Amino acid sequence: MLLRRLNRAVRRLPFSLLLLIAAPFIVEVLIHVWQYQVPRPTTDLDAPFFTSCQEPDVGAERENAVFVMLARNKELHKAKKTIRSIEAQFNKWFNYPIMFLNDEPWDPNFVTELNETAGGKGIFEVIPKEQWSYPDWLDQESAKESIQQQGKAGAPHAGLEGYHHMCRFYSGKFYQLDVLKKYKWYWRLEPSVDFTCAITYDPFVQMAKHKKVYGYTIALWEVGKSCPGLFRATADWKQSKRVPSSSLWNAMMEASWMPFPFRRLLSWVPHRDTYGDAWSLCHYWSNFEIADMDFFRSKTYQDYFDYLDRKGGFYNERWGDAAVHSLAVAMLADPQQVHHFEDIGYRHDTFYQCPANAPGGQLPGSLSLVKNEPWTTEAAGGIGCRCQCDGKELRNFGTYCLDKLKQPNTPKRGWFS
Ligand code: GDP
Ligand code: MN
Repeated sequence: MLLRRLNRAVRRLPFSLLLLIAAPFIVEVLIHVWQYQVPRPTTDLDAPFFTSCQEPDVGAERENAVFVMLARNKELHKAKKTIRSIEAQFNKWFNYPIMFLNDEPWDPNFVTELNETAGGKGIFEVIPKEQWSYPDWLDQESAKESIQQQGKAGAPHAGLEGYHHMCRFYSGKFYQLDVLKKYKWYWRLEPSVDFTCAITYDPFVQMAKHKKVYGYTIALWEVGKSCPGLFRATADWKQSKRVPSSSLWNAMMEASWMPFPFRRLLSWVPHRDTYGDAWSLCHYWSNFEIADMDFFRSKTYQDYFDYLDRKGGFYNERWGDAAVHSLAVAMLADPQQVHHFEDIGYRHDTFYQCPANAPGGQLPGSLSLVKNEPWTTEAAGGIGCRCQCDGKELRNFGTYCLDKLKQPNTPKRGWFS
Protein backbone atom coordinates (compact mmCIF):
# COMPACT_ATOMS: atom_id res chain seq x y z
CA MET A 1 0.00 0.00 0.00
CA LEU A 2 2.69 2.40 1.13
CA LEU A 3 4.91 1.34 -1.74
CA ARG A 4 2.13 1.87 -4.24
CA ARG A 5 1.57 5.39 -2.91
CA LEU A 6 5.28 6.14 -3.03
CA ASN A 7 5.42 4.84 -6.58
CA ARG A 8 2.51 7.06 -7.60
CA ALA A 9 4.11 10.10 -5.94
CA VAL A 10 7.43 9.49 -7.69
CA ARG A 11 5.68 9.16 -11.06
CA ARG A 12 4.03 12.52 -10.57
CA LEU A 13 7.41 14.25 -10.03
CA PRO A 14 8.77 16.04 -13.08
CA PHE A 15 11.68 14.31 -14.79
CA SER A 16 14.06 17.18 -14.12
CA LEU A 17 13.43 16.93 -10.39
CA LEU A 18 14.05 13.17 -10.48
CA LEU A 19 17.31 13.78 -12.25
CA LEU A 20 18.27 16.33 -9.61
CA ILE A 21 17.66 13.80 -6.84
CA ALA A 22 19.54 11.03 -8.69
CA ALA A 23 22.49 13.22 -9.72
CA PRO A 24 24.53 13.00 -6.50
CA PHE A 25 24.16 9.20 -6.51
CA ILE A 26 25.26 8.95 -10.14
CA VAL A 27 28.22 11.25 -9.54
CA GLU A 28 29.20 9.28 -6.45
CA VAL A 29 29.12 5.98 -8.36
CA LEU A 30 31.19 7.41 -11.20
CA ILE A 31 33.81 8.71 -8.77
CA HIS A 32 33.81 5.40 -6.94
CA VAL A 33 34.35 3.30 -10.07
CA TRP A 34 36.90 5.78 -11.38
CA GLN A 35 39.00 5.22 -8.25
CA TYR A 36 39.47 1.61 -9.35
CA GLN A 37 40.80 2.57 -12.77
CA VAL A 38 44.30 1.25 -13.27
CA PRO A 39 46.58 3.87 -14.80
CA ARG A 40 48.59 2.62 -17.77
CA PRO A 41 52.28 2.90 -16.96
CA THR A 42 54.52 4.85 -19.32
CA THR A 43 56.83 1.84 -19.73
CA ASP A 44 56.05 -1.88 -19.68
CA LEU A 45 56.41 -2.91 -16.04
CA ASP A 46 57.05 -6.50 -16.97
CA ALA A 47 58.93 -7.06 -20.21
CA PRO A 48 60.10 -10.63 -21.04
CA PHE A 49 63.64 -11.37 -19.81
CA PHE A 50 64.62 -12.68 -23.27
CA THR A 51 62.79 -12.88 -26.57
CA SER A 52 64.78 -15.60 -28.35
CA CYS A 53 67.02 -18.65 -27.65
CA GLN A 54 70.21 -17.98 -25.70
CA GLU A 55 73.36 -20.06 -25.65
CA PRO A 56 72.95 -21.63 -22.15
CA ASP A 57 75.61 -20.06 -19.94
CA VAL A 58 76.49 -23.16 -17.96
CA GLY A 59 79.43 -21.50 -16.24
CA ALA A 60 77.45 -18.54 -14.88
CA GLU A 61 76.86 -18.08 -11.19
CA ARG A 62 73.64 -19.67 -9.92
CA GLU A 63 71.11 -18.33 -7.47
CA ASN A 64 70.39 -20.02 -4.16
CA ALA A 65 67.43 -21.97 -5.52
CA VAL A 66 65.72 -25.33 -5.58
CA PHE A 67 62.99 -27.10 -7.53
CA VAL A 68 60.21 -28.44 -5.31
CA MET A 69 57.71 -31.14 -6.15
CA LEU A 70 55.08 -32.34 -3.73
CA ALA A 71 53.94 -35.81 -4.74
CA ARG A 72 52.49 -39.10 -3.60
CA ASN A 73 54.19 -42.47 -4.06
CA LYS A 74 51.46 -43.51 -6.46
CA GLU A 75 52.37 -40.58 -8.74
CA LEU A 76 55.66 -42.20 -9.75
CA HIS A 77 55.05 -42.13 -13.50
CA LYS A 78 53.51 -38.69 -13.52
CA ALA A 79 56.40 -37.32 -11.46
CA LYS A 80 58.91 -38.90 -13.83
CA LYS A 81 57.20 -37.30 -16.81
CA THR A 82 57.61 -33.83 -15.28
CA ILE A 83 61.22 -34.36 -14.30
CA ARG A 84 62.12 -35.73 -17.70
CA SER A 85 60.58 -32.65 -19.26
CA ILE A 86 62.24 -30.01 -17.05
CA GLU A 87 65.60 -31.79 -17.29
CA ALA A 88 65.44 -31.86 -21.10
CA GLN A 89 64.30 -28.27 -21.47
CA PHE A 90 66.33 -26.60 -18.74
CA ASN A 91 67.98 -28.42 -15.89
CA LYS A 92 70.47 -30.51 -17.84
CA TRP A 93 72.30 -27.20 -18.32
CA PHE A 94 71.68 -25.48 -15.00
CA ASN A 95 71.66 -28.41 -12.55
CA TYR A 96 69.53 -27.06 -9.74
CA PRO A 97 68.65 -29.57 -6.98
CA ILE A 98 65.14 -31.05 -7.06
CA MET A 99 63.43 -31.58 -3.72
CA PHE A 100 60.58 -34.08 -3.52
CA LEU A 101 58.15 -33.65 -0.63
CA ASN A 102 55.61 -36.14 0.69
CA ASP A 103 53.40 -36.34 3.75
CA GLU A 104 54.15 -40.08 3.92
CA PRO A 105 57.46 -41.99 3.89
CA TRP A 106 58.85 -42.33 0.38
CA ASP A 107 58.65 -45.64 -1.40
CA PRO A 108 62.33 -46.64 -2.00
CA ASN A 109 61.44 -47.40 -5.60
CA PHE A 110 60.17 -43.81 -6.10
CA VAL A 111 63.46 -42.51 -4.67
CA THR A 112 65.60 -44.67 -6.92
CA GLU A 113 63.68 -43.99 -10.12
CA LEU A 114 63.19 -40.27 -9.61
CA ASN A 115 66.76 -39.65 -8.56
CA GLU A 116 67.87 -41.38 -11.72
CA THR A 117 65.50 -39.25 -13.84
CA ALA A 118 66.72 -36.12 -12.05
CA GLY A 119 70.31 -36.97 -12.95
CA GLY A 120 71.24 -37.54 -9.27
CA LYS A 121 69.97 -34.14 -8.16
CA GLY A 122 67.03 -35.48 -6.13
CA ILE A 123 66.48 -34.73 -2.44
CA PHE A 124 63.67 -36.69 -0.77
CA GLU A 125 61.99 -35.29 2.32
CA VAL A 126 58.98 -36.12 4.46
CA ILE A 127 56.85 -33.22 5.70
CA PRO A 128 56.65 -33.08 9.53
CA LYS A 129 53.17 -33.83 10.86
CA GLU A 130 52.65 -30.37 12.38
CA GLN A 131 52.90 -28.82 8.91
CA TRP A 132 50.42 -31.26 7.36
CA SER A 133 47.48 -31.54 9.72
CA TYR A 134 44.49 -29.74 11.22
CA PRO A 135 45.44 -26.83 13.47
CA ASP A 136 44.98 -27.74 17.19
CA TRP A 137 42.17 -25.29 17.77
CA LEU A 138 40.00 -26.44 14.85
CA ASP A 139 36.98 -28.66 15.53
CA GLN A 140 38.08 -31.65 13.46
CA GLU A 141 34.73 -33.40 13.53
CA SER A 142 32.88 -30.48 12.01
CA ALA A 143 35.76 -29.87 9.56
CA LYS A 144 35.56 -33.49 8.36
CA GLU A 145 31.80 -33.20 7.99
CA SER A 146 32.23 -30.00 6.00
CA ILE A 147 34.80 -31.68 3.73
CA GLN A 148 32.30 -34.44 3.01
CA GLN A 149 29.63 -31.91 2.14
CA GLN A 150 32.00 -29.91 -0.05
CA GLY A 151 32.76 -33.13 -1.91
CA LYS A 152 29.08 -33.59 -2.62
CA ALA A 153 28.72 -29.94 -3.71
CA GLY A 154 31.36 -30.64 -6.35
CA ALA A 155 34.18 -28.08 -6.08
CA PRO A 156 37.29 -29.80 -7.53
CA HIS A 157 39.01 -32.12 -4.99
CA ALA A 158 37.01 -30.49 -2.17
CA GLY A 159 35.94 -33.86 -0.74
CA LEU A 160 39.54 -35.00 -0.16
CA GLU A 161 40.99 -34.34 3.28
CA GLY A 162 44.55 -34.57 1.89
CA TYR A 163 43.80 -31.84 -0.64
CA HIS A 164 42.77 -29.46 2.15
CA HIS A 165 45.99 -30.22 4.05
CA MET A 166 47.90 -29.63 0.82
CA CYS A 167 46.28 -26.21 0.24
CA ARG A 168 47.01 -25.12 3.80
CA PHE A 169 50.55 -26.47 3.54
CA TYR A 170 51.37 -24.65 0.30
CA SER A 171 49.64 -21.48 1.50
CA GLY A 172 51.83 -21.00 4.54
CA LYS A 173 53.49 -23.99 6.20
CA PHE A 174 55.66 -24.80 3.18
CA TYR A 175 57.73 -21.65 3.76
CA GLN A 176 58.50 -22.72 7.32
CA LEU A 177 60.04 -26.09 6.42
CA ASP A 178 63.48 -26.58 7.98
CA VAL A 179 64.76 -28.35 4.89
CA LEU A 180 64.03 -25.27 2.77
CA LYS A 181 65.59 -22.74 5.11
CA LYS A 182 68.89 -22.63 3.28
CA TYR A 183 67.27 -21.67 -0.03
CA LYS A 184 65.93 -18.32 -1.14
CA TRP A 185 64.18 -19.20 -4.42
CA TYR A 186 61.93 -22.06 -5.43
CA TRP A 187 60.43 -23.29 -8.68
CA ARG A 188 57.37 -25.38 -8.06
CA LEU A 189 56.74 -28.48 -10.14
CA GLU A 190 53.81 -30.86 -10.20
CA PRO A 191 53.51 -34.42 -11.42
CA SER A 192 52.38 -34.74 -15.03
CA VAL A 193 53.12 -31.30 -16.41
CA ASP A 194 54.97 -30.51 -19.64
CA PHE A 195 57.53 -27.90 -20.49
CA THR A 196 57.26 -27.40 -24.22
CA CYS A 197 60.01 -24.88 -25.02
CA ALA A 198 63.72 -24.77 -24.26
CA ILE A 199 64.47 -22.48 -21.33
CA THR A 200 67.97 -21.36 -22.18
CA TYR A 201 68.58 -18.76 -19.49
CA ASP A 202 68.43 -18.97 -15.70
CA PRO A 203 65.04 -17.63 -14.51
CA PHE A 204 66.24 -17.40 -10.90
CA VAL A 205 69.12 -15.14 -11.89
CA GLN A 206 66.79 -12.96 -13.98
CA MET A 207 64.20 -12.76 -11.20
CA ALA A 208 66.91 -11.60 -8.79
CA LYS A 209 68.39 -9.17 -11.31
CA HIS A 210 65.02 -7.57 -12.05
CA LYS A 211 63.98 -7.52 -8.37
CA LYS A 212 60.99 -9.80 -8.97
CA VAL A 213 59.37 -11.77 -6.17
CA TYR A 214 56.76 -13.82 -8.01
CA GLY A 215 56.66 -15.43 -11.45
CA TYR A 216 53.82 -17.29 -13.18
CA THR A 217 52.83 -18.71 -16.55
CA ILE A 218 49.05 -19.07 -16.42
CA ALA A 219 46.41 -16.83 -14.86
CA LEU A 220 42.78 -17.81 -14.70
CA TRP A 221 39.60 -17.59 -12.64
CA GLU A 222 39.14 -19.38 -9.34
CA VAL A 223 36.17 -21.69 -8.88
CA GLY A 224 33.91 -19.41 -6.84
CA LYS A 225 32.28 -22.07 -4.71
CA SER A 226 35.63 -23.27 -3.38
CA CYS A 227 36.23 -20.04 -1.46
CA PRO A 228 33.17 -17.87 -0.77
CA GLY A 229 34.75 -16.27 2.32
CA LEU A 230 38.38 -15.94 1.24
CA PHE A 231 38.26 -12.51 -0.32
CA ARG A 232 36.29 -10.97 2.52
CA ALA A 233 38.79 -12.34 5.04
CA THR A 234 41.66 -11.01 2.92
CA ALA A 235 40.12 -7.57 2.51
CA ASP A 236 39.37 -7.38 6.24
CA TRP A 237 42.96 -8.24 7.07
CA LYS A 238 44.21 -5.70 4.53
CA GLN A 239 42.04 -3.03 6.07
CA SER A 240 43.05 -3.86 9.64
CA LYS A 241 46.72 -3.55 8.65
CA ARG A 242 46.05 -0.38 6.65
CA VAL A 243 47.69 -1.84 3.54
CA PRO A 244 47.22 0.70 0.73
CA SER A 245 45.69 -0.48 -2.56
CA SER A 246 48.24 -0.66 -5.36
CA SER A 247 47.39 -0.65 -9.05
CA LEU A 248 47.99 -4.43 -9.00
CA TRP A 249 45.39 -4.86 -6.29
CA ASN A 250 42.94 -2.69 -8.21
CA ALA A 251 43.63 -4.73 -11.34
CA MET A 252 42.22 -7.77 -9.52
CA MET A 253 39.10 -5.93 -8.39
CA GLU A 254 35.72 -5.22 -9.92
CA ALA A 255 34.28 -2.03 -8.48
CA SER A 256 30.57 -2.11 -7.70
CA TRP A 257 28.19 0.07 -9.73
CA MET A 258 25.63 0.10 -6.93
CA PRO A 259 25.13 3.60 -5.49
CA PHE A 260 26.07 4.50 -1.95
CA PRO A 261 24.78 3.64 0.65
CA PHE A 262 23.17 0.54 -0.91
CA ARG A 263 26.56 -0.72 -2.05
CA ARG A 264 27.39 -1.85 1.45
CA LEU A 265 24.52 -4.30 1.38
CA LEU A 266 26.49 -6.24 -1.23
CA SER A 267 29.17 -6.99 1.37
CA TRP A 268 27.12 -10.07 2.26
CA VAL A 269 27.61 -11.48 -1.22
CA PRO A 270 30.63 -13.85 -1.60
CA HIS A 271 33.92 -12.44 -2.95
CA ARG A 272 33.11 -8.89 -1.86
CA ASP A 273 34.75 -6.64 0.70
CA THR A 274 32.96 -4.74 3.45
CA TYR A 275 32.24 -1.89 1.00
CA GLY A 276 30.59 -4.17 -1.54
CA ASP A 277 33.37 -4.22 -4.15
CA ALA A 278 34.37 -7.56 -5.64
CA TRP A 279 37.46 -9.64 -6.41
CA SER A 280 37.35 -10.71 -10.07
CA LEU A 281 38.47 -14.26 -9.01
CA CYS A 282 41.53 -13.82 -11.18
CA HIS A 283 44.57 -15.62 -9.80
CA TYR A 284 47.92 -17.02 -10.85
CA TRP A 285 47.93 -20.78 -11.20
CA SER A 286 50.35 -21.97 -8.55
CA ASN A 287 51.22 -25.39 -9.98
CA PHE A 288 53.89 -23.34 -11.77
CA GLU A 289 55.58 -20.76 -9.60
CA ILE A 290 59.04 -19.29 -9.42
CA ALA A 291 59.20 -17.16 -6.33
CA ASP A 292 61.26 -15.59 -3.60
CA MET A 293 60.62 -17.48 -0.36
CA ASP A 294 61.65 -14.45 1.70
CA PHE A 295 58.48 -12.73 0.49
CA PHE A 296 56.35 -15.56 1.87
CA ARG A 297 58.47 -16.02 4.98
CA SER A 298 58.07 -12.36 5.91
CA LYS A 299 56.25 -11.54 9.13
CA THR A 300 53.59 -9.70 7.14
CA TYR A 301 52.76 -12.64 4.87
CA GLN A 302 52.85 -15.16 7.72
CA ASP A 303 50.56 -12.91 9.73
CA TYR A 304 48.12 -12.88 6.79
CA PHE A 305 48.34 -16.67 6.53
CA ASP A 306 47.72 -17.11 10.28
CA TYR A 307 44.70 -14.83 10.04
CA LEU A 308 43.26 -16.96 7.23
CA ASP A 309 44.11 -20.15 9.11
CA ARG A 310 42.20 -18.91 12.17
CA LYS A 311 39.16 -18.35 9.99
CA GLY A 312 39.13 -22.11 9.31
CA GLY A 313 38.54 -21.66 5.57
CA PHE A 314 41.23 -24.16 4.55
CA TYR A 315 38.87 -26.84 5.87
CA ASN A 316 35.37 -25.37 6.20
CA GLU A 317 35.77 -24.13 2.64
CA ARG A 318 38.45 -25.19 0.18
CA TRP A 319 40.68 -22.14 0.02
CA GLY A 320 43.38 -22.86 -2.54
CA ASP A 321 47.01 -21.85 -2.26
CA ALA A 322 46.88 -20.31 -5.74
CA ALA A 323 44.23 -17.80 -4.73
CA VAL A 324 45.91 -17.12 -1.38
CA HIS A 325 49.31 -16.49 -3.00
CA SER A 326 47.78 -14.31 -5.71
CA LEU A 327 45.80 -12.12 -3.34
CA ALA A 328 48.87 -11.71 -1.14
CA VAL A 329 51.04 -10.80 -4.10
CA ALA A 330 48.45 -8.27 -5.32
CA MET A 331 48.21 -6.83 -1.83
CA LEU A 332 51.86 -6.81 -0.74
CA ALA A 333 54.11 -6.78 -3.82
CA ASP A 334 54.74 -3.88 -6.18
CA PRO A 335 53.27 -4.41 -9.64
CA GLN A 336 56.74 -4.47 -11.21
CA GLN A 337 57.80 -7.29 -8.86
CA VAL A 338 55.51 -9.79 -10.60
CA HIS A 339 56.67 -11.57 -13.73
CA HIS A 340 54.66 -13.32 -16.40
CA PHE A 341 56.89 -15.94 -18.05
CA GLU A 342 55.29 -15.52 -21.46
CA ASP A 343 58.20 -17.28 -23.12
CA ILE A 344 57.85 -20.53 -21.16
CA GLY A 345 55.79 -23.26 -22.79
CA TYR A 346 53.83 -25.01 -20.06
CA ARG A 347 50.92 -27.39 -19.75
CA HIS A 348 49.00 -28.56 -16.70
CA ASP A 349 45.82 -30.56 -17.30
CA THR A 350 43.89 -28.88 -20.08
CA PHE A 351 45.40 -25.43 -19.67
CA TYR A 352 48.52 -24.51 -21.50
CA GLN A 353 50.64 -21.67 -22.69
CA CYS A 354 52.76 -22.20 -25.72
CA PRO A 355 54.52 -19.21 -27.24
CA ALA A 356 55.30 -18.87 -30.91
CA ASN A 357 58.97 -19.29 -31.79
CA ALA A 358 60.99 -16.12 -32.15
CA PRO A 359 61.76 -15.50 -35.82
CA GLY A 360 65.48 -15.77 -36.48
CA GLY A 361 66.07 -16.48 -32.80
CA GLN A 362 66.32 -20.28 -32.72
CA LEU A 363 70.13 -20.68 -32.78
CA PRO A 364 70.07 -23.41 -35.45
CA GLY A 365 73.77 -24.22 -35.14
CA SER A 366 73.97 -24.41 -31.35
CA LEU A 367 75.57 -27.60 -30.05
CA SER A 368 73.99 -27.17 -26.61
CA LEU A 369 70.56 -27.12 -28.18
CA VAL A 370 71.06 -29.94 -30.60
CA LYS A 371 68.81 -32.30 -28.66
CA ASN A 372 66.07 -29.72 -28.30
CA GLU A 373 65.09 -29.81 -31.95
CA PRO A 374 62.87 -29.94 -33.81
CA TRP A 375 60.86 -26.78 -33.69
CA THR A 376 58.22 -26.52 -36.36
CA THR A 377 57.48 -22.86 -37.06
CA GLU A 378 58.57 -19.34 -36.35
CA ALA A 379 56.12 -16.45 -36.23
CA ALA A 380 56.27 -12.68 -36.11
CA GLY A 381 56.04 -11.50 -32.50
CA GLY A 382 57.05 -14.93 -31.20
CA ILE A 383 59.34 -15.00 -28.18
CA GLY A 384 59.65 -18.75 -27.59
CA CYS A 385 62.74 -20.92 -27.99
CA ARG A 386 62.29 -24.17 -29.89
CA CYS A 387 58.72 -24.59 -28.72
CA GLN A 388 57.14 -27.80 -29.92
CA CYS A 389 53.90 -26.11 -30.84
CA ASP A 390 53.05 -23.35 -33.23
CA GLY A 391 52.04 -20.51 -30.95
CA LYS A 392 48.36 -20.97 -31.70
CA GLU A 393 48.00 -23.69 -29.12
CA LEU A 394 46.97 -21.53 -26.22
CA ARG A 395 44.48 -22.09 -23.52
CA ASN A 396 45.46 -19.49 -21.01
CA PHE A 397 43.82 -16.41 -19.66
CA GLY A 398 47.11 -14.78 -20.30
CA THR A 399 48.08 -11.75 -18.38
CA TYR A 400 44.54 -10.91 -17.33
CA CYS A 401 45.42 -10.02 -13.73
CA LEU A 402 48.32 -7.92 -14.88
CA ASP A 403 47.23 -6.88 -18.33
CA LYS A 404 45.70 -3.62 -17.22
CA LEU A 405 49.19 -2.66 -16.10
CA LYS A 406 50.73 -3.07 -19.53
CA GLN A 407 51.27 -0.17 -21.84
CA PRO A 408 48.32 0.48 -24.15
CA ASN A 409 50.29 -0.50 -27.22
CA THR A 410 52.13 -3.49 -25.81
CA PRO A 411 51.31 -6.21 -28.31
CA LYS A 412 49.60 -9.20 -26.76
CA ARG A 413 51.86 -12.13 -27.52
CA GLY A 414 48.96 -14.42 -28.25
CA TRP A 415 46.44 -15.11 -25.56
CA PHE A 416 43.09 -16.66 -25.40
CA SER A 417 40.21 -15.87 -23.13
P1 GDP B 1 45.20 -29.97 -8.94
O1 GDP B 1 46.44 -29.64 -9.71
O2 GDP B 1 44.71 -28.81 -8.13
O3 GDP B 1 44.15 -30.60 -9.76
O4 GDP B 1 45.60 -31.07 -7.82
P2 GDP B 1 46.67 -32.22 -7.77
O5 GDP B 1 46.00 -33.51 -7.49
O6 GDP B 1 47.61 -32.15 -8.93
O7 GDP B 1 47.47 -31.83 -6.45
C1 GDP B 1 48.31 -30.71 -6.38
C2 GDP B 1 49.67 -31.10 -5.82
O8 GDP B 1 49.53 -31.56 -4.49
C3 GDP B 1 50.35 -32.22 -6.57
O9 GDP B 1 51.75 -31.98 -6.50
C4 GDP B 1 49.98 -33.45 -5.77
O10 GDP B 1 50.96 -34.46 -5.89
C5 GDP B 1 49.96 -32.88 -4.36
N1 GDP B 1 49.03 -33.56 -3.43
C6 GDP B 1 47.68 -33.43 -3.38
N2 GDP B 1 47.18 -34.17 -2.37
C7 GDP B 1 48.24 -34.76 -1.77
C8 GDP B 1 48.40 -35.66 -0.64
O11 GDP B 1 47.45 -36.06 0.00
N3 GDP B 1 49.69 -36.05 -0.33
C9 GDP B 1 50.78 -35.61 -1.04
N4 GDP B 1 52.00 -36.06 -0.68
N5 GDP B 1 50.66 -34.79 -2.08
C10 GDP B 1 49.42 -34.36 -2.44
MN1 MN C 1 47.95 -30.76 -10.57
